[in-house]
Parts: sequence; structure tokens; C-alpha cells
Amino acid sequence: SLKEKLAAHSGPGATADGHPVKLLLNVGSAGGAASDAAADAEGVGLFRTEFLFLDRTEAPTVEEQRAAYGEVLRGFSGRQVVIRTLDAGADKYIPFANTEDEPNPALGVRGYRVGVRNPGLLAAQLKAISLAAADHDADVRVMAPMIATPAEAAAFRELAREHGIGKVGVMIEVPAAAIRARDILAEVDFVSIGTNDLSQYTYAADRMLGELGELLDPWQPALLALVANVAAAAQEAGKPAGICGEAASDPGLAPVFAGLGITSLSMSVSAVPAVRAALKDYTVEQCRILAGEVLGAPDVPSARKVVEEFSARSV
Ligand code: PEP
Ligand code: MG
Repeated sequence: SLKEKLAAHSGPGATADGHPVKLLLNVGSAGGAASDAAADAEGVGLFRTEFLFLDRTEAPTVEEQRAAYGEVLRGFSGRQVVIRTLDAGADKYIPFANTEDEPNPALGVRGYRVGVRNPGLLAAQLKAISLAAADHDADVRVMAPMIATPAEAAAFRELAREHGIGKVGVMIEVPAAAIRARDILAEVDFVSIGTNDLSQYTYAADRMLGELGELLDPWQPALLALVANVAAAAQEAGKPAGICGEAASDPGLAPVFAGLGITSLSMSVSAVPAVRAALKDYTVEQCRILAGEVLGAPDVPSARKVVEEFSARSV
């Protein structure tokens, strides 16, 4: 019916039979927050905080950070907002946080590792986040980038809890963390898979090199196998596992991720309608069958073909 068709293009993300998959936004600055907040999405799955640190000679103050985070939180009152702590390094080089002379910056002191080396920087950010959270009534969560071990996840959780932040997660974007997802999940409340870096490190292919695009394709079987491992571990733990890398905005992969047990997809505002519509094309049981078949595909073209043929079969 017309009513059903319209309903398919608004509201919370779900499969045809109502199995929920949250549709969340990737936000990269405070400036765009007002227009982002107007979008029909269930919250923010990845608030990248680097914008506040780039192009500066020293770190922003706690008050400055509190105000900038508050700008985003204000718009998302009543909705969830996952704030990611500073992911300095490699493709996001920040002079006062990173060292210039690393031979392989992508494999160097970046992301959470910067916070270990410079605890004052991370503590100030967590303090600003907890103050901003108290100023607003968005459902604030915090997560750390580039976590590799359960011990790092535990240390980050403790630090965040010390600042009074109740919901603490980590990104899964290092293969070691994806392989040992069960142990990581034992330490935190949720995980979010960063497929951009997870692809880069799994295929040993620099994400900045366009000519390696084929290896960085999110339909690659080894990447999907890692996503499947994380989703299964999260289901077993009864904790959410989202995706916030570029793969989350691929409508072809949305039902596959739903079938694997992924609980949220976070993307740019413009990608939301197509992903929402794609989820509505399948029941959760069809998603599970589809995911099983895609996981069995030996390469990218056959994985894509599984989805194309499945769609043709089900209409
Ligand atoms: C990712 O790596 O997939 C991710 C979401 O983080 P970023 O792109 O900011 O590294
Ligand atoms: Mg990343």
C-alpha cells in the first residue's frame, strides 16, 4: 500500500519484518550539526572529533571542547551520540599529538596510542565530553579508535568511567581486535567496526592509495569474515556491534550486515535513504540466508553476484 511505501522511507531502520538495524550518522564537525540533526536518523554513530584539533599549534581547552561537543549534542537531544576520542595520526596528522619522524605513520603512535603517550590530552577530552554530556540530554557514549588488545579496551573503559561516562565502547579497526572480538567485548559496552582502517590493515593496502581500491573493497571476503566474527561475538555477549566505516553506506551490503547480526549502520546523511530502503527489501531470515551465501563467496564479484541474484529471486 502507499502507506507502507511511505513508511519504508522514514523512521527507524528495520528489515521488512521489523528486525531493527539502527540508522546513525557520521558527523565530522560541530558546524554541520544543526542540519545533520534535522535528518531522519536515530542518532550519531561516529562523531569524529579531529576537526577541533587539526590546523592548530596546541590542543583546544576543556571549555572549548565542551562547547563544540555541546553544539552537536544539543541537536540530538533524546537520541544517541557516540563521541570518538581523538584519532590523531596517519591520515589525520596533528603536529602537537604526533611525531613527525615515524617511518610508517599508519603503524605508528596513532589513535588510542596517542592517549597513552599523552594522558593529559585524553583526560582533558574525556572531561570535556562528560561536561558536555551533563549540559545536554542526548544519550552520550564514548569510544576509542585503534584499539588492538583487550587490555587497551579495559584501560580506556576505566578512564572513561573515572570521568563519569557510563557507556563505553571501542572501535574494531585493527585485525587483532576483530580476531579477538570476544575478549574485547568482555571489557566494554559496545563495539563499532571501522571498515576503512580494518580493510587497510587486513589487506596491507594504504587506504589513501586509490590504485589499491580493489583490495580495499568492503566486499572482500576476508573483511566480511572479520565483520562476521565481530557480529557473532557481540551477539553471544548480548552487546551492540555497529559499523561506522564507508561499508555502512553500501545498500547492497546492508542486508548482509543485518544477517550477520550487526545492530547499527552509521553513515553520511545522504546515504541514509538508500540503506533504509535496502533493509526493507528483506526479512531478517532472508538477510541471514543471504549473509551465509555471501560469506561463502570466494571473491568480490561472486559476493556481489549473490546479492544481485538473491534480489532477483525474491521479487
Ligand atoms: C574507519 O576506519 O572505518 C573509521 C570509521 O574511522 P576513520 O575513517 O575516521 O579512520
Ligand atoms: Mg579509522
